[in-house]
Amino acid sequence: CAKHAGKNAVRAFHPAMGSQTTERMDLERDLRGALVREELTLHYQPVFSGLTGRLVGFEALARWNHPVQGLLPPGKFISVAEESGLIVPLGAWVLQEACRQAAAWRREEAFTVSVNVSPLQFEQPDFIETVQQAVIRSGLDPQRLVLELTESVVLRNPQRAIAQMTHLRMLGIKVALDDFGTGQSSLSLLRTLPIDILKIDRSFVQDETGNLEAAQVMVDVIITMAHRFRMHVVAEGVETREQLSLLKTLGCDSVQGFLLARPVPASEAEKFL
Ligand code: C2E
Ligand code: MG
Ligand code: MG
Ligand code: MG
Repeated sequence: CAKHAGKNAVRAFHPAMGSQTTERMDLERDLRGALVREELTLHYQPVFSGLTGRLVGFEALARWNHPVQGLLPPGKFISVAEESGLIVPLGAWVLQEACRQAAAWRREEAFTVSVNVSPLQFEQPDFIETVQQAVIRSGLDPQRLVLELTESVVLRNPQRAIAQMTHLRMLGIKVALDDFGTGQSSLSLLRTLPIDILKIDRSFVQDETGNLEAAQVMVDVIITMAHRFRMHVVAEGVETREQLSLLKTLGCDSVQGFLLARPVPASEAEKFL
Protein backbone atom coordinates (compact mmCIF):
# COMPACT_ATOMS: atom_id res chain seq x y z
CA CYS A 1 0.00 0.00 0.00
CA ALA A 2 0.97 3.62 -0.50
CA LYS A 3 1.37 4.29 3.21
CA HIS A 4 3.81 1.44 3.52
CA ALA A 5 5.81 2.56 0.49
CA GLY A 6 5.92 6.11 1.82
CA LYS A 7 7.31 4.97 5.12
CA ASN A 8 9.98 2.92 3.40
CA ALA A 9 10.87 5.84 1.17
CA VAL A 10 11.50 8.01 4.24
CA ARG A 11 13.56 5.27 5.82
CA ALA A 12 15.64 4.97 2.67
CA PHE A 13 16.73 8.58 3.06
CA HIS A 14 17.43 8.24 6.76
CA PRO A 15 18.87 4.77 7.25
CA ALA A 16 20.37 5.66 10.63
CA MET A 17 16.99 6.39 12.14
CA GLY A 18 15.91 2.77 12.18
CA SER A 19 12.52 2.24 13.77
CA GLN A 20 12.32 5.68 15.33
CA THR A 21 8.79 6.99 15.08
CA THR A 22 8.01 10.41 13.65
CA GLU A 23 6.57 11.33 17.03
CA ARG A 24 9.94 10.70 18.60
CA MET A 25 11.71 12.62 15.85
CA ASP A 26 9.36 15.56 16.38
CA LEU A 27 10.09 15.45 20.09
CA GLU A 28 13.83 15.41 19.42
CA ARG A 29 13.54 18.38 17.06
CA ASP A 30 11.45 20.30 19.62
CA LEU A 31 13.85 19.44 22.42
CA ARG A 32 16.76 20.79 20.40
CA GLY A 33 15.01 24.18 20.33
CA ALA A 34 13.71 23.94 23.89
CA LEU A 35 17.07 24.79 25.42
CA VAL A 36 17.42 27.90 23.25
CA ARG A 37 13.83 28.96 23.85
CA GLU A 38 14.29 28.40 27.60
CA GLU A 39 11.37 26.00 27.88
CA LEU A 40 13.08 23.80 30.44
CA THR A 41 12.44 24.38 34.09
CA LEU A 42 13.22 22.69 37.37
CA HIS A 43 10.86 21.55 40.06
CA TYR A 44 12.20 20.91 43.54
CA GLN A 45 11.07 18.13 45.82
CA PRO A 46 11.86 18.69 49.50
CA VAL A 47 13.76 16.00 51.41
CA PHE A 48 13.31 15.79 55.19
CA SER A 49 15.27 14.35 58.08
CA GLY A 50 13.85 11.02 59.27
CA LEU A 51 15.00 11.92 62.76
CA THR A 52 13.79 15.49 63.23
CA GLY A 53 11.40 15.98 60.32
CA ARG A 54 13.24 19.14 59.31
CA LEU A 55 14.03 20.04 55.73
CA VAL A 56 17.49 18.81 54.73
CA GLY A 57 17.46 19.41 50.98
CA PHE A 58 15.75 19.42 47.62
CA GLU A 59 15.95 17.16 44.61
CA ALA A 60 15.92 19.12 41.34
CA LEU A 61 13.67 17.45 38.76
CA ALA A 62 13.55 18.57 35.14
CA ARG A 63 10.30 19.64 33.49
CA TRP A 64 9.73 20.73 29.92
CA ASN A 65 7.22 23.43 29.22
CA HIS A 66 6.31 22.17 25.75
CA PRO A 67 4.56 24.84 23.63
CA VAL A 68 1.83 22.41 22.50
CA GLN A 69 1.85 19.49 24.94
CA GLY A 70 2.18 21.52 28.14
CA LEU A 71 4.35 20.64 31.11
CA LEU A 72 6.11 17.33 30.38
CA PRO A 73 7.66 15.11 33.06
CA PRO A 74 11.17 13.69 32.50
CA GLY A 75 9.70 10.30 31.62
CA LYS A 76 8.52 11.90 28.37
CA PHE A 77 11.83 13.39 27.23
CA ILE A 78 14.90 12.17 29.15
CA SER A 79 15.25 9.00 27.06
CA VAL A 80 14.97 11.05 23.83
CA ALA A 81 17.58 13.43 25.23
CA GLU A 82 19.85 10.54 26.17
CA GLU A 83 19.56 8.79 22.78
CA SER A 84 20.09 11.98 20.77
CA GLY A 85 22.97 13.27 22.89
CA LEU A 86 20.91 16.32 23.86
CA ILE A 87 21.21 15.20 27.47
CA VAL A 88 24.71 16.70 27.52
CA PRO A 89 23.68 20.37 27.06
CA LEU A 90 20.40 19.70 28.92
CA GLY A 91 22.24 18.19 31.89
CA ALA A 92 24.72 21.06 31.95
CA TRP A 93 21.82 23.50 32.09
CA VAL A 94 20.17 21.54 34.94
CA LEU A 95 23.41 21.63 36.91
CA GLN A 96 23.89 25.35 36.44
CA GLU A 97 20.29 26.20 37.21
CA ALA A 98 20.07 24.01 40.33
CA CYS A 99 23.35 25.43 41.69
CA ARG A 100 22.27 28.99 40.91
CA GLN A 101 18.93 28.49 42.65
CA ALA A 102 20.41 26.79 45.71
CA ALA A 103 22.99 29.56 46.08
CA ALA A 104 20.24 32.19 45.79
CA TRP A 105 18.34 30.45 48.60
CA ARG A 106 21.10 31.14 51.08
CA ARG A 107 19.82 30.41 54.57
CA GLU A 108 21.33 29.83 57.99
CA GLU A 109 20.32 26.21 57.89
CA ALA A 110 22.40 24.15 55.51
CA PHE A 111 20.46 22.22 52.91
CA THR A 112 21.58 20.26 49.89
CA VAL A 113 20.44 20.31 46.30
CA SER A 114 20.48 17.01 44.42
CA VAL A 115 20.90 16.80 40.67
CA ASN A 116 20.27 13.68 38.57
CA VAL A 117 23.09 12.79 36.20
CA SER A 118 22.52 10.56 33.18
CA PRO A 119 25.04 7.93 31.98
CA LEU A 120 26.02 9.77 28.78
CA GLN A 121 26.49 13.00 30.70
CA PHE A 122 28.70 11.31 33.29
CA GLU A 123 30.82 9.77 30.51
CA GLN A 124 31.71 13.11 28.90
CA PRO A 125 35.46 13.79 29.22
CA ASP A 126 34.68 17.30 30.48
CA PHE A 127 31.99 16.27 32.97
CA ILE A 128 34.01 17.25 36.06
CA GLU A 129 34.80 20.58 34.45
CA THR A 130 31.11 21.20 33.76
CA VAL A 131 30.28 20.47 37.40
CA GLN A 132 33.11 22.67 38.66
CA GLN A 133 31.97 25.51 36.42
CA ALA A 134 28.41 25.31 37.75
CA VAL A 135 29.72 25.41 41.32
CA ILE A 136 32.14 28.27 40.73
CA ARG A 137 29.74 30.41 38.69
CA SER A 138 26.96 30.04 41.26
CA GLY A 139 29.17 30.46 44.29
CA LEU A 140 27.47 27.42 45.84
CA ASP A 141 29.36 25.62 48.60
CA PRO A 142 30.27 22.30 46.89
CA GLN A 143 29.34 20.48 50.12
CA ARG A 144 25.75 21.38 49.36
CA LEU A 145 25.68 19.76 45.94
CA VAL A 146 24.66 16.10 45.60
CA LEU A 147 25.02 14.28 42.29
CA GLU A 148 22.62 11.35 41.88
CA LEU A 149 23.92 8.50 39.75
CA THR A 150 22.23 5.21 38.97
CA GLU A 151 23.78 1.77 38.97
CA SER A 152 23.75 1.76 35.16
CA VAL A 153 26.24 4.64 35.16
CA VAL A 154 28.63 2.60 37.24
CA LEU A 155 28.17 -0.70 35.43
CA ARG A 156 29.20 0.68 32.03
CA ASN A 157 32.75 1.18 33.21
CA PRO A 158 33.17 0.62 36.95
CA GLN A 159 36.83 1.59 37.19
CA ARG A 160 36.37 4.87 35.38
CA ALA A 161 33.16 5.62 37.29
CA ILE A 162 34.89 5.02 40.62
CA ALA A 163 37.78 7.31 39.64
CA GLN A 164 35.37 10.03 38.57
CA MET A 165 33.26 9.69 41.73
CA THR A 166 36.40 9.94 43.84
CA HIS A 167 37.39 13.10 42.00
CA LEU A 168 33.97 14.66 42.63
CA ARG A 169 34.20 13.85 46.32
CA MET A 170 37.65 15.41 46.50
CA LEU A 171 36.00 18.60 45.29
CA GLY A 172 33.66 18.36 48.28
CA ILE A 173 30.66 17.27 46.21
CA LYS A 174 28.48 14.44 47.53
CA VAL A 175 27.70 11.38 45.44
CA ALA A 176 24.43 9.48 45.76
CA LEU A 177 23.43 6.13 44.27
CA ASP A 178 19.84 6.58 43.03
CA ASP A 179 17.09 3.95 42.67
CA PHE A 180 19.09 1.47 44.70
CA GLY A 181 17.82 -2.07 44.46
CA THR A 182 16.35 -1.86 40.96
CA GLY A 183 19.54 -2.48 38.98
CA GLN A 184 21.73 -5.53 38.77
CA SER A 185 24.67 -4.30 40.78
CA SER A 186 26.12 -6.74 43.24
CA LEU A 187 26.85 -6.15 46.88
CA SER A 188 30.57 -6.41 46.17
CA LEU A 189 30.29 -3.55 43.68
CA LEU A 190 28.46 -1.47 46.26
CA ARG A 191 31.29 -2.08 48.69
CA THR A 192 33.81 -0.61 46.27
CA LEU A 193 31.78 2.47 45.36
CA PRO A 194 32.87 5.80 46.82
CA ILE A 195 29.37 7.04 47.65
CA ASP A 196 27.97 9.21 50.43
CA ILE A 197 24.27 8.53 50.03
CA LEU A 198 22.17 5.52 49.13
CA LYS A 199 18.68 6.22 47.85
CA ILE A 200 16.35 3.28 48.37
CA ASP A 201 14.09 2.90 45.36
CA ARG A 202 10.42 3.50 45.95
CA SER A 203 9.52 -0.04 44.89
CA PHE A 204 10.95 -1.22 48.25
CA VAL A 205 9.31 1.55 50.21
CA GLN A 206 5.92 1.01 48.60
CA ASP A 207 6.03 -2.77 48.47
CA GLU A 208 4.12 -3.55 45.28
CA THR A 209 4.23 -7.26 46.02
CA GLY A 210 1.89 -7.03 48.98
CA ASN A 211 4.37 -8.98 51.06
CA LEU A 212 4.86 -6.33 53.71
CA GLU A 213 7.06 -8.41 55.96
CA ALA A 214 9.53 -9.23 53.20
CA ALA A 215 9.65 -5.60 52.07
CA GLN A 216 10.38 -4.48 55.64
CA VAL A 217 13.21 -6.97 55.93
CA MET A 218 14.71 -5.65 52.66
CA VAL A 219 14.54 -2.01 53.77
CA ASP A 220 15.93 -2.94 57.19
CA VAL A 221 18.85 -4.80 55.62
CA ILE A 222 19.60 -2.02 53.12
CA ILE A 223 19.65 0.63 55.87
CA THR A 224 21.83 -1.48 58.16
CA MET A 225 24.25 -2.29 55.36
CA ALA A 226 24.47 1.33 54.19
CA HIS A 227 25.17 2.51 57.72
CA ARG A 228 27.91 -0.06 58.11
CA PHE A 229 29.47 1.41 54.95
CA ARG A 230 29.07 4.86 56.55
CA MET A 231 26.55 5.91 53.95
CA HIS A 232 23.56 8.12 54.56
CA VAL A 233 20.21 6.58 53.53
CA VAL A 234 17.36 8.38 51.76
CA ALA A 235 14.02 6.65 51.15
CA GLU A 236 12.11 7.70 48.02
CA GLY A 237 8.40 7.49 47.33
CA VAL A 238 7.02 7.78 50.85
CA GLU A 239 3.27 8.00 50.35
CA THR A 240 1.70 6.77 53.59
CA ARG A 241 2.05 7.43 57.31
CA GLU A 242 2.73 3.72 57.85
CA GLN A 243 5.69 3.82 55.45
CA LEU A 244 7.02 6.94 57.15
CA SER A 245 6.80 5.56 60.66
CA LEU A 246 8.42 2.29 59.63
CA LEU A 247 11.31 4.12 57.95
CA LYS A 248 11.81 6.24 61.07
CA THR A 249 11.81 3.12 63.24
CA LEU A 250 14.39 1.50 60.97
CA GLY A 251 16.65 4.56 61.29
CA CYS A 252 16.33 5.93 57.76
CA ASP A 253 18.26 9.21 57.68
CA SER A 254 16.11 11.11 55.17
CA VAL A 255 12.70 10.73 53.61
CA GLN A 256 11.18 12.00 50.38
CA GLY A 257 7.73 11.42 48.95
CA PHE A 258 4.29 12.70 48.09
CA LEU A 259 3.11 12.27 51.72
CA LEU A 260 5.59 14.96 52.77
CA ALA A 261 5.81 17.15 49.67
CA ARG A 262 5.49 16.94 45.90
CA PRO A 263 8.01 18.47 43.50
CA VAL A 264 7.12 22.17 43.10
CA PRO A 265 8.45 25.20 41.20
CA ALA A 266 11.24 27.17 42.86
CA SER A 267 8.90 29.92 44.04
CA GLU A 268 6.88 27.38 46.04
CA ALA A 269 9.87 25.36 47.19
CA GLU A 270 11.25 28.46 48.86
CA LYS A 271 8.38 28.34 51.36
CA PHE A 272 9.83 25.15 52.84
CA LEU A 273 12.99 26.98 53.90
P1 C2E B 1 14.35 9.94 40.38
O1 C2E B 1 15.64 10.61 40.35
O2 C2E B 1 14.27 8.64 41.08
O3 C2E B 1 13.34 11.01 41.00
C1 C2E B 1 12.25 10.70 41.82
C2 C2E B 1 10.98 10.59 41.02
O4 C2E B 1 9.96 10.05 41.85
C3 C2E B 1 10.43 11.94 40.54
O5 C2E B 1 9.72 11.74 39.32
C4 C2E B 1 9.44 12.30 41.65
O6 C2E B 1 8.42 13.20 41.25
C5 C2E B 1 8.87 10.93 41.93
N1 C2E B 1 8.33 10.83 43.29
C6 C2E B 1 8.72 11.47 44.40
N2 C2E B 1 8.00 11.12 45.47
C7 C2E B 1 7.11 10.20 45.02
C8 C2E B 1 6.04 9.45 45.65
O7 C2E B 1 5.78 9.54 46.84
N3 C2E B 1 5.34 8.61 44.85
C9 C2E B 1 5.59 8.48 43.52
N4 C2E B 1 4.85 7.65 42.82
N5 C2E B 1 6.59 9.17 42.89
C10 C2E B 1 7.31 10.01 43.64
P2 C2E B 1 9.97 12.63 38.03
O8 C2E B 1 10.15 14.07 38.40
O9 C2E B 1 8.91 12.28 37.05
O10 C2E B 1 11.37 12.11 37.50
C11 C2E B 1 11.53 10.79 37.03
C12 C2E B 1 12.98 10.46 36.77
O11 C2E B 1 13.50 11.25 35.69
C13 C2E B 1 13.88 10.74 37.95
O12 C2E B 1 13.79 9.70 38.88
C14 C2E B 1 15.22 10.81 37.25
O13 C2E B 1 15.74 9.53 37.05
C15 C2E B 1 14.86 11.42 35.92
N6 C2E B 1 15.20 12.87 35.92
C16 C2E B 1 14.51 13.91 36.44
N7 C2E B 1 15.16 15.08 36.26
C17 C2E B 1 16.31 14.76 35.61
C18 C2E B 1 17.42 15.52 35.14
O14 C2E B 1 17.54 16.74 35.31
N8 C2E B 1 18.42 14.83 34.50
C19 C2E B 1 18.37 13.48 34.32
N9 C2E B 1 19.40 12.87 33.69
N10 C2E B 1 17.36 12.74 34.77
C20 C2E B 1 16.32 13.36 35.41
MG1 MG C 1 17.01 11.10 41.67
MG1 MG D 1 15.22 7.65 42.43
MG1 MG E 1 14.39 7.02 38.89
